[in-house]
Amino acid sequence: MKLERLYNYSLKSTLIRLIISISLIAVIVGLILYISFDMYNTMDSQKKDALLNAKLVGEYSAAPMIFGYSDEAENILEKLVTLPAVTEACLYTTESDKPFATYQKTSEEPYTFPAVQEEKAVYKGRFLYIFHEITYEETRCGTIFMRISTLSLLDRLIRNIFVAILLLIILLIITFIVASHQQKVISKPILKLTALTEKITKNQDYSVKMEYTGIDEISKLYKEISLMLSEITLHQHERDKAEEKLKKLNEELETRVNERTSQLLAINKELESFSYSISHDLRAPLRAIYGFSQILSRRHRDSLNEEGRQYMDYIVESSVRMEHLINDLLNYSRLGRKSVEMRPISLQKILDNIHHDFSQKLKEVGGKLIFEGYDTEIYGDESLLQQIFINLVENAITYRRIEVPLEIKIMCVTNPDSYLIKVSDNGIGIPEEFWEKIFNIFQRLHSDEEYPGTGIGLANVKKSVDKLNGEVWVESVVGQGSTFFIKLPQPKNIFQNV
Ligand code: ADP
Repeated sequence: MKLERLYNYSLKSTLIRLIISISLIAVIVGLILYISFDMYNTMDSQKKDALLNAKLVGEYSAAPMIFGYSDEAENILEKLVTLPAVTEACLYTTESDKPFATYQKTSEEPYTFPAVQEEKAVYKGRFLYIFHEITYEETRCGTIFMRISTLSLLDRLIRNIFVAILLLIILLIITFIVASHQQKVISKPILKLTALTEKITKNQDYSVKMEYTGIDEISKLYKEISLMLSEITLHQHERDKAEEKLKKLNEELETRVNERTSQLLAINKELESFSYSISHDLRAPLRAIYGFSQILSRRHRDSLNEEGRQYMDYIVESSVRMEHLINDLLNYSRLGRKSVEMRPISLQKILDNIHHDFSQKLKEVGGKLIFEGYDTEIYGDESLLQQIFINLVENAITYRRIEVPLEIKIMCVTNPDSYLIKVSDNGIGIPEEFWEKIFNIFQRLHSDEEYPGTGIGLANVKKSVDKLNGEVWVESVVGQGSTFFIKLPQPKNIFQNV
């Protein structure tokens, strides 16, 4: 049997099988040796007995042989009837090879006696053949031959084998009982260990106690596993502690971030209301400057020289620009404070308003406004969306190319989870390095003389889109035009995020 096949059985049955097979092999070898030895001994003593009987009969037959009385000799041979194993016997005189007197136990089949041979005792077939020399007063007077049946030997062999088989069966039963009991000495601690390790793997509980006292290898195994488990428990404990610490740190960090965020929000709000009130408060003195400088330039223009008149114009122009700036700033801060009202809105309505508001201006510059996806219903805040389109269309008009008729295209695509609005123009375009920066407040790419503006328009767009939970970005080719992208979430995504 291959060794690996042993591992397919349970430890208990493997041990029982091992003990039984070892005991059986030992007993079978022992019995074979015993039977062989017994047979050898029996054959030897049969030979000795036969020789003794031959000698005895020979001594009695010596006198009739010397005197040639064959009847007498046969009478003596007849006494062999008392030895049932002797089937045939005969006497030879020294003068002839032929038997002098013969004996046959049964006369059913006449036996052909062999020619005389020298002294010997040999087993051949089922018989023992004996030739023994007969001497009288140290003179050889003939030979006696005996053929002896070995049936008794065969009987003994059969009996021995039968007893051996019986012994084997009894031994098998006893060995099985003893092995079943003794295997526990080895299998019990191993099975206990298996159950324990199974429990550990299942429950992931490494604090299990592995108690086993002794000095054998299994006890050592228990001790080693016990040590290993305490190491694991220690590491686990340390890991738990580190995890706990990390969790605490995370919580602290989260609280700190929350605190900072609310602080920032508060500061932002404060800043917004501050810039709002500043802009608001600046309006009155600005109006006074503007009003008085206009009166001055109207009523006293003639009393001023050329230089004075120029300065007066600067003051008026600057106050106008200042007013624009303050108005834009006020708008921007209002946007921050404005509450958002999200609801389904018809894009068509907003775009109609835009078209109406800009129709005069577009006419003046010879431009046109094209819509695609005009009848879409989107989800958002109406005034914020209006604000976005006003700023983008205004910029498209401002930053147009004089050499080509202005064309502004507004498109809306509905995707599974969002709306994508594109506002494209064929204007001067924006260099790539400014694609992000232009959304910062006061970020301008041109001087006031080239293109008038305050640098707040796109900051307004960004703030409005942020309030709608969307994203805004631009792609542009200088000298060809720009496209502003606005991605707004679909209502189901907004609710999912809440
Ligand atoms: P303003 O227009 O008042 O300068 P904005 O915030 O609206 O301020 O724009 C910031 C800058 O981005 C502008 O100065 C301009 O250079 C650039 N810009 C905005 N829109 C366009 C456009 N459609 N085409 C080219 N440049 C643009």
